[in-house]
Amino acid sequence: MPINFKTAITKLLSASFILLSVSVSGATAQETKIKWFGHAAFSITTPSGKVLLIDPWLNNPSNPEAKDGKDPLSAVTKVDYILLTHGHRDHIGDAVAIARKTGAVLISNPELAGNIVKLADFPAKQAETAAIMGIGGEIQIADGEVTVAMTPAIHSSSVFNPKAGAGEPERAYGGNPAGFVIIIKNGPTIYHSGDTAYFKDMETIGESYSVDVALLNIGGHFGMEPKMAAKAAQAVRARLAIPQHFGTFPGIAQNALAFAAELKKMKINFYEMKPGATIIFRGKQFVKGS
Ligand SMILES: [Zn+2]
Repeated sequence: MPINFKTAITKLLSASFILLSVSVSGATAQETKIKWFGHAAFSITTPSGKVLLIDPWLNNPSNPEAKDGKDPLSAVTKVDYILLTHGHRDHIGDAVAIARKTGAVLISNPELAGNIVKLADFPAKQAETAAIMGIGGEIQIADGEVTVAMTPAIHSSSVFNPKAGAGEPERAYGGNPAGFVIIIKNGPTIYHSGDTAYFKDMETIGESYSVDVALLNIGGHFGMEPKMAAKAAQAVRARLAIPQHFGTFPGIAQNALAFAAELKKMKINFYEMKPGATIIFRGKQFVKGS
């Protein structure tokens, strides 16, 4: 049977076009985006487009999207998971409103989950799933694309009770405070320290996980002072250290200069995000910030 040359060329061209489209979308599909809203609030968008939100106090005074009477929640349309390190107000933040708006599933310890359902009307169905976990545990979420490990933190954790009054205490138990290691398939491994103090066993985090980027609380007063935050970066063997939990309110460090200076001595990469900015990882590689 004679070969139809035109048909063969057409087939070849369409095949290479498909191949090209696959490789192009493959490249963009490897991107993980991390956005900082100021304070301890970050979103992580995975290569497949799943959105994780950590300690979502979006109405914090550093967030440009919350300034001049703007509502930072209006732009929040898709959130798959909300991760809470502990129960303090500057970390639970806008979690309840975001959960109601997006249907996001809660990742936290069981006591914190139980009390924000009971006291703050967090949607119960979204707080009673297999994503409730404890320190030392690891869970798989996002159809296996993301592994979340809950790590120890030295701090406190209580849930403020908006219904406080006669017979109702002002604060309820919030379980143990925590940090998170978030391992993204085809993406970086991210450590969020919560509000922890420095502790020498942070070295175990560095031994157990290959931390590409550490989001470290540096504000002091309630948690690590900048010098100890740099020691934490070293202990978890962070390839890149990014400061958080500073400059938001009086009493905590107002800038990251001391942290950057300490990291320089230790030859650890430092990057300062601005509130509202997003950084991008291609695979495990930090490629750019905006
Ligand atoms: Zn805090």
